[in-house]
Amino acid sequence: LAEYMFVCPECGFKAPLNPRITQCPKCGAPLRIELIGGGFTPLRGRGVWRYKGVMPNPLHVDNPISLGEGGTPLVRRRINGIDVWFKLEYLNPLGSFKDRGVSVAATLAKSLGYSTLVEDSSGNTGLSTAGYAAASGMKARIYVPADAPEGKKKLVRLLGAELIEAPSRSDAARLAEEQLRSGEYHVAHTWNPWFIEGTVTIAYEVSEDLSWTVPSTIIAPVASGTLLLGIYYGFKRLRKLGVVEDESPRIIGVQALGTTPVYKAIHGESPQGYSRLIDALRIPNPPRLKEIVEAIERSRGDVIIVGDDEVKPALKELAHMGFIVEPTSASAYAAFKKAFSEGLVERGDSVLIPLTGTGFKTLDILLEVVSGQ
Ligand SMILES: [Zn+2]
Repeated sequence: LAEYMFVCPECGFKAPLNPRITQCPKCGAPLRIELIGGGFTPLRGRGVWRYKGVMPNPLHVDNPISLGEGGTPLVRRRINGIDVWFKLEYLNPLGSFKDRGVSVAATLAKSLGYSTLVEDSSGNTGLSTAGYAAASGMKARIYVPADAPEGKKKLVRLLGAELIEAPSRSDAARLAEEQLRSGEYHVAHTWNPWFIEGTVTIAYEVSEDLSWTVPSTIIAPVASGTLLLGIYYGFKRLRKLGVVEDESPRIIGVQALGTTPVYKAIHGESPQGYSRLIDALRIPNPPRLKEIVEAIERSRGDVIIVGDDEVKPALKELAHMGFIVEPTSASAYAAFKKAFSEGLVERGDSVLIPLTGTGFKTLDILLEVVSGQ
């Protein structure tokens, strides 16, 4: 069996795993779950829970809370001489990759006896949480910024969750913590280490689909880092467990004009501006910033900033390829095109682009951008 421990990325504190703990008892930073060693157990079934045997022990439950998340298609397109692998994460049950992490967090919460899931979100994680609460008989209370897309807010209510609108994304996070009562589990995807155990399965699936090899580059949107870190740790674990021989891929993070903490940490100054369309990447102080920067630097990657002028044509192109995604998801494809024009990716590379969220939740924006309505 694979063995894990808690490591604090800030102060180096180490401890055995504990499903009730998410933050460092010494300094309060979000803990990281680190693979110590062991083996890759046989895989069974499909989707996220196919890899249950490889997950940390507290997740070895008999009946995980599942809506069939994961197992998303990996579709190859040859663009500018580059093999581009689109991972269709928007086909998850509630329409985004967040379903992976929420399935894991909800499973943990239920196994620990909690009755309510609480989450703060720009939209997608809130919707996932509402969906998995509905699937498991738990209640849900979701805090969103008031300017979250209407489609996402309506769906949260439709699934029976309580929706609380806050003035901003950071207010939503603060209120969720302040109003947390006993018996309630804060999914807290921006810092909960257990959430990332769901997103690491993206790397496992991609590698398994590629006969246990690894793409040369990953281009992924980065806000709180759950996607980018999950994929990074997933590929690293596969190498450590001896499942793949390839070096871990280069990680290129994508940020939106106006919210560029990772870019600033790596490059200093960042371009000024604002993106209206990339609404799901507005986290000015991600709790895992140090980890995100380390992942990018250790993989010899980089950060690319895109704005609305680049996202619009990317969204349009994706739609014309048949991929109906939300504007935030198109930021990764916009960054790919920019990376190609700047020589960061070149002919012969193989590039993984996760398409993170469905465009059906933001149909009004999609129509506006793609067909000018
Ligand atoms: Zn610490």
